[in-house]
Parts: sequence; C-alpha cells; structure tokens
Amino acid sequence: MSIAENIVRLKDEIAVACRRAGRNENEVALMAVSKVHPAEAILEAYEAGQRLFGENRVQEYEQKSTVLAGLKDASFHLIGPLQSNKTNKAAELFDAIDAVDSLRIAQRLDAAAEARSKQLPILIEVKLSHEESKHGIAPEELPLLLDAARDLRSVEVVGLMTVPPWSEDAETARPYFRELRRLRDEAVKTHSKLTQLSMGMSNDFPVAIEEGSTCVRVGTAIFGKRVYPAVP
Ligand SMILES: *Cc1c(COP(=O)(O)O)cnc(C)c1O
Repeated sequence: MSIAENIVRLKDEIAVACRRAGRNENEVALMAVSKVHPAEAILEAYEAGQRLFGENRVQEYEQKSTVLAGLKDASFHLIGPLQSNKTNKAAELFDAIDAVDSLRIAQRLDAAAEARSKQLPILIEVKLSHEESKHGIAPEELPLLLDAARDLRSVEVVGLMTVPPWSEDAETARPYFRELRRLRDEAVKTHSKLTQLSMGMSNDFPVAIEEGSTCVRVGTAIFGKRVYPAVP
C-alpha cells in the first residue's frame, strides 16, 4: 500500500474509533511520524494531504528540513527526547515540542523562543511506566512543573504526552492512556490551556482514542517498517 492509501485508511480507522467512543473525529489529529524515513516520504505524505508531522531527532530533522522548506502550511513537532544543548536548534526548527520532560528544558526553550519572537507550544511527557528506557517526568512532579511553567512567556504548556510500554496487545496500554487523561483532567482545572493528549501509536491508537487522545502519533502504519541504518 502506498503512503497515500495508508493515510486514507488511517483516517477511516480514526473515524470508526471516534464513532465507537461517541466522539467527533475532528477532535483527533493524525500525526505522521516520519523519523528514519527520508524527506521524500514526507513529501509524498504532504502530497496526499498530510500536514502534521512528528520527528524524533533535532539533527535528523535539520538535515531533512532543507528539502522541506517549501511546505509552508505543514507543521513539524519534535516528539523525541531533547537534550539541553539542542534547545536552541529545536526552538528554531520546530513548530511545537511535544516531549518536554523538565522545567530546565522548558525554560531553555522559552529563552530560545523569546529570542526569535516565537510562541512555542509544548507538551509535557509523563512517564507512567517503570521501564528504564522511557522518558518523561514522574506524575507526582507534574503540578510543580506546571505551576513553575506559568512564568514562561514564549512557551505555553498545551497538553500531556506519554509512551506506554510496547505490547502486541493494545489493551495493555489502556490503563496508561486512562491515567494520562486523568492527569490532564486534573491539570486543566487550574491550567485552562492544557487540553491536548498526545497518545496512541500504530498498534494501539484506537484504544487511545477511546481514552480521550487528541493526537495519535502514527509511524509504521503510514510509512512502513523503519529500517535503521546498521551500526558500524
Ligand atoms: C516512533 C514513535 C511513534 C510512532 O510509532 P509507530 O509504532 O511506528 O506508529 C510515536 N511516538 C513516538 C514518541 C515515537 O518515537
């Protein structure tokens, strides 16, 4: 199946999941996760009408972005972990940073965005699983971080994001999605802009939609399997 066909199919599947959950399909954005795939794949998705993209690494996207400069109405979000020495570049290149996991990174992004007179929406990544490999802040730290982030002027926290442990069975992810939603519902009482829930990937997005996702991040089901370059 082509990238264009995959996008059409996914939109259908998102609509079906929304109907099942009694939600309006306009409430759920489809983000095409293009990490590892070449800029040509992004262009192909763009031709098919896709406008929202997720990239994992600042450097990788910087290389691709030279080819993508013409896509004025597309938006690119950073969804991978961000090191503090890359915050300037990230604030320059991306339209939003969806995996902020410390106040320090949020502050650095704020300074970088302010220097560019840019408003930068961010999501806070919450670590709900106990896997070593996962990033994000502990849920207990969220209220303090959100209160401190109120002082930032060029960065605004607009939602939460999480990556549950990988599993063949999408149902395994449900409790993680439900917990992120609970945290969002709690936080939005005092932070009215904090409405977004970035959760759900190729294998579990229908479950994430049932649990309130507002953005599903889909890579494999659009672009095919990622073939990582062999490490020498
Ligand atoms: C790679 C990645 C995705 C997409 O995963 P697929 O299983 O290929 O859909 C989504 N979110 C994050 C944070 C990722 O790193």
